[in-house]
Amino acid sequence: MQWNDGTIGANTTRDRPHGDSPIFTDWAIIPPVRPLVRLGNRAMTKQEKAAYMKLWRLAHKVERAEYQRAWNESHPNYKKAYNKAYRQAHRAEIRAYWAAYYQAHKDETDARVAAWNNANRSHVTAYRAERYRAHRDKARAQTAAWQKAHPDKCRDNNAHRHALKLGATVEYVERAVVFERDNGRCHVCGKKVDPKDWHLDHIVPLSKGGEHSYRNVAMAHPDCNMKKYAKLIGQLRLF
Ligand SMILES: [Zn+2]
Repeated sequence: MQWNDGTIGANTTRDRPHGDSPIFTDWAIIPPVRPLVRLGNRAMTKQEKAAYMKLWRLAHKVERAEYQRAWNESHPNYKKAYNKAYRQAHRAEIRAYWAAYYQAHKDETDARVAAWNNANRSHVTAYRAERYRAHRDKARAQTAAWQKAHPDKCRDNNAHRHALKLGATVEYVERAVVFERDNGRCHVCGKKVDPKDWHLDHIVPLSKGGEHSYRNVAMAHPDCNMKKYAKLIGQLRLF
């Protein structure tokens, strides 16, 4: 057995204070005080050494901790580098540890994170903005892919946003629901519409105080909708 003399690289895996947790690295550095390794004229046996060291560590607990603290302070980069290397070497293990921890403490963790986010709102906003800037291309590609996969949902969202902008009374209207309700027929001419190309017509236009709601929308052919719109403009000109 080699006694640790406190030089760099002199870590020990003995004395794991945190059990087998991969999170806490044990790199206690034993003070440069040579403990007894011989009994009289003979070397200690392995068992004798182990028993002796156990007592020795207990007896020197305070000075070892103090030594470790001072050593850490005078070698700040060593600990950083050591921990970084450790994390890299045990990445999967650490991830699994925290995933299990999260599963076992889900509610309290979520609550703690939400509380922290609330208390640090401006920080969180800045962080998210920065993150978005750093990953803008990826975020845009993800959005574009989602939009391509959910065209109807996009139109629903856009209509919703547009109505909000106009200050209309709004409920979330889904085109799919209107299509079903109106049996796929245009409310102006009564004929079937192309399921991929039809307008969600506001019966009372949003611009005239109509609301964005199921009771104020109906399906229409793009042409029928435009004709109705043109007629409305004509009426406006008459007054
Ligand atoms: Zn029509």
